[in-house]
Amino acid sequence: MIKAVRGTRDLLPPDTGLWNFVERKVREIFARYNYHEIRTPIFESTELFARGVGEETDIVSKEMFTWEDKARAASEKTQTLTLRPENTAGVVRAYIEHELGRSGLLQKLYYIGPQFRRERPQKGRYRQFYQIGAEVLGPASAGSELPIRDAEVLDMLTALLDAVGLKGWTLYLNSVGCLNCRPAYNQALREALAGVKDQLCADCRRRAETNPLRVLDCKVPADQPIIEKLPKIADYLDEDCREHFAQVRAMLDTLEVPYQVNERMVRGLDYYTRTTFEFTHGELGAQSAVLGGGRYDGLSEQIGGPKAPGIGFAIGEDRLVLALQAQSQEALGTLQAFIIPLGAGMSRHALRLARELRSQGITADVSDESFRIKKSFETAEKLGAEYAVIVGENEVQAGAFSVKKLKSGEQTTVPRAELRQFLQS
Ligand code: ATP
Ligand code: MG
Repeated sequence: MIKAVRGTRDLLPPDTGLWNFVERKVREIFARYNYHEIRTPIFESTELFARGVGEETDIVSKEMFTWEDKARAASEKTQTLTLRPENTAGVVRAYIEHELGRSGLLQKLYYIGPQFRRERPQKGRYRQFYQIGAEVLGPASAGSELPIRDAEVLDMLTALLDAVGLKGWTLYLNSVGCLNCRPAYNQALREALAGVKDQLCADCRRRAETNPLRVLDCKVPADQPIIEKLPKIADYLDEDCREHFAQVRAMLDTLEVPYQVNERMVRGLDYYTRTTFEFTHGELGAQSAVLGGGRYDGLSEQIGGPKAPGIGFAIGEDRLVLALQAQSQEALGTLQAFIIPLGAGMSRHALRLARELRSQGITADVSDESFRIKKSFETAEKLGAEYAVIVGENEVQAGAFSVKKLKSGEQTTVPRAELRQFLQS
């Protein structure tokens, strides 16, 4: 038997109903915040991620699906391509390529789509997974650097989590400084690490040399007491970064968005500056991060573009869905009416009634033509339908249908014109 490749999975009904529900809410809420959708290719030049995400990151150093793509014609050349492991680099590339900054306006863009990372598959961690993300970027003259952008992004996220009904999340917030103040912090970290790194795990010993900030990410329990005592980034922020962070927090306070400052949260991507954040959820176990994001004021220049400060986030859709499934679930996309034709010749009337109801916004399905009412009621229950509507010759002639509420077994005759209202009540 040929099976789905390790780390990939099929999404099947009824789960896809929840995925669709989430995506519907995303489109609805993001549109209200004046975001528009962008779709970028699933694969890009490897170089984009090497430069945009950073050579030192886990993503680039060990998680990418990369291949040599052979030339097929003299007009083509062999290139190194990569399945996108994240979407921010692709969005910023598109921003540069299409000169989206020329309008002088802020670009508020969102995407929904698959990403690929070669990780050890486990619950909440897959090799093909889905992200829902948004980016707001533009020339500094459009206000792209201002704290109001950060606060609005976080406000939108809480609105979305509310709309999908996720409860019990925690927002962790930090500032990782900028190109001006981070070198001093890195230096301080390096010096502090020099004395203690022999007591740390192998990964941290390497990171202490290559990318000391990453040590703060370490999850190894034995390392924690040592890491706790390392210098804190808050003590190294320059005046502008400190003020920026204070303003973001003040706006969140006014918006009544609850958060916790976590000075160790540096996030996995090299391009972050200033505000970084993560939303976690207790139901997710080891893979507790539902989403993460931050500001990336130097990213555009890093990949050869104009100055285009911005901030964005990526929600792990797989994890968001898992967290929602772990909660008691409200009815999602339930089948409102199961229409049962009674007797030969009634199928076309059942079909017509179904079309009528569907056009009125009712979710309806039609039974088979076996005309066995008991079996049809059983099917209706298995499908989780709220009502069964019987379409017999008498019903069609009278213009009124016998409707059974499946939970209570209660049966009522409802005139055709009132059917929609009845089914929705
Ligand atoms: P983690 O620390 O869990 O590896 P990350 O820092 O690598 O996360 P980001 O690159 O910031 O994650 O991606 C944003 C979100 O995408 C994460 O918070 C998570 O919800 C989701 N995500 C990342 N990698 C995976 C994966 N392999 N499978 C499923 N979801 C993922
Ligand atoms: Mg990761």
